[in-house]
Amino acid sequence: MSNTPAHQILHGIGVSAGTASGPAVLIIPAPGVDTSEPPSTDAVADGQRVRDAMKAVGTALLAKAEHAPESTKPILETTAQLATDRGLAKSIDKELKKGTGITKAVHDAVEQYAAMLTQLGGYMAERVTDLYDVRDRTICELRGLPAPGVPDLVTPSILVARDLAPAETATLSKDIVLGIITSEGGPTSHTAILAAQLAIPAVVQTKGADAITVGSVLAIDGGVGEVIISPTTEEVEQLAERSRRRAAALAGSSGEGATRDGHKVKLLANIGTADDARKAAAYDLEGSGLFRTEFLFLERDTAPTLEEQTQTYTEVLEAFGERRVVVRTLDAGADKPLAFADLGEEENPALGRRGLRLSMVREDLLDTQLEALAAAYKATGSKSDLRVMAPMVATLEEAKWFDAKVRPYGLPKVGIMVEIPSAAIMANRLLSLVDFVSIGTNDLSQYTLAADRMQGALAPLLSPWQPALLAMVRSTCDGGRATGKPVGVCGEAGGDPLLALVLVGLGVTSLSMAPSKVGTVRAALRLHDLATCQQMAAFAVDAPTAADAKAAVERLIAPALLDLL
Ligand code: PEP
Ligand code: MG
Repeated sequence: MSNTPAHQILHGIGVSAGTASGPAVLIIPAPGVDTSEPPSTDAVADGQRVRDAMKAVGTALLAKAEHAPESTKPILETTAQLATDRGLAKSIDKELKKGTGITKAVHDAVEQYAAMLTQLGGYMAERVTDLYDVRDRTICELRGLPAPGVPDLVTPSILVARDLAPAETATLSKDIVLGIITSEGGPTSHTAILAAQLAIPAVVQTKGADAITVGSVLAIDGGVGEVIISPTTEEVEQLAERSRRRAAALAGSSGEGATRDGHKVKLLANIGTADDARKAAAYDLEGSGLFRTEFLFLERDTAPTLEEQTQTYTEVLEAFGERRVVVRTLDAGADKPLAFADLGEEENPALGRRGLRLSMVREDLLDTQLEALAAAYKATGSKSDLRVMAPMVATLEEAKWFDAKVRPYGLPKVGIMVEIPSAAIMANRLLSLVDFVSIGTNDLSQYTLAADRMQGALAPLLSPWQPALLAMVRSTCDGGRATGKPVGVCGEAGGDPLLALVLVGLGVTSLSMAPSKVGTVRAALRLHDLATCQQMAAFAVDAPTAADAKAAVERLIAPALLDLL
């Protein structure tokens, strides 16, 4: 290959550990309108060409849906439906009759259609993203170009993108995707969460990733957040050696989570579906610390029925047997809108009627959910360590309301999430009302630092090493100590082996994370005693900056930990 790109090392944030090397595949960007196309002179013939192209797009999407996991099938099927929308085809005809070129006619008609959907609001407005996807795919079909998004991979490759949208990630698998590199996205982005779930090495916020070209050979280290373009043979061998050392270090750790001196810390999995539960239950871990039930509700026109929910919850409880399962009640609103629970437009949805606030308005949704959980608990012999918790609790009244709502269903344990600073500050009093709390560090970072968690550019503010965030965790743990009640962490921070040490040092009693991260966290805990974790925690909270906090902890780690990163 004559055009081998120069050797270069790029840095980003490692969000899913592991190493790999292989060819780069780029997410294909949408090509847009063909600026050199002639005007339409035969609207009927061109209208037919558009219909054929849209039909091909619909068929391709349905074929993709067939191989997609259950949770993502509906996304692809709804998009496919839009591709055969007769109203849309007619609007394109109108543009063609004016003499507009064929791809521009598609573009302009979709623009008008999108404006109409946006005006209708709610569920209709949410279809605009899918509509644009249909537009881009149809234009590619007409121009004879490959479909945009993740190309169909034939050889195992490393995926390079600006960021990944949920629909794009629908069919990714570890067998064919060796690694994921994005120039945007943050540690709590879809890409990061998905990569960790699939155990694919991943680096986000990679500076210089936009310059990577198709077919360049890459090496990725998802632990330290490094990407090498055109790596030398020695570098590839060094990474492979790191992988071997990591595998050996992990192989030595199994069983309950505990520090070197035997202080127990429950290690749990974050899940979103019954399928996730079955996969997670096969790992060596102690249950689930966060079941995000909203995945049952999203991308639907109507709420899931009592029977449907009972079925799913039963499957989840069955998967874990007697192990712990912490179910979070519906956390919708903001970035997770529901078509059937639209409370109207909000200027600041992240600060709006989301999470428990939505459940307080739509009590019917919560009632059905609790009834289904109680039925599933009974159906599985009431043997699991089932705990139910509310998302986004801000006040004592809300905690009291939720507790009073859940108890009559006979569900054994009631708790709340701490993801708003007010809850962290009042943890002591909140814990006197409920059985446990679980800290959602993703949202707690967002609200403590006033930084939108979806904005990659704000990643430094959202770092869980921010001393202010750690002080919020400390305040929550103080409440746990004072009341003798457990304090868990179920945000992404819980799966970082270094931060896990700090969190345990602060007093956290359980950590919930992507199942693939449990082994590393367990091994990291086993290398350190509780007193060292407490010292690390004290230094980290007192540090002036996030970087200083991390550096202070790194100075205290057991050298063998480096093999795990
Ligand atoms: C969190 O905010 O940390 C959390 C676990 O909830 P989610 O990521 O689902 O908002
Ligand atoms: Mg949250």
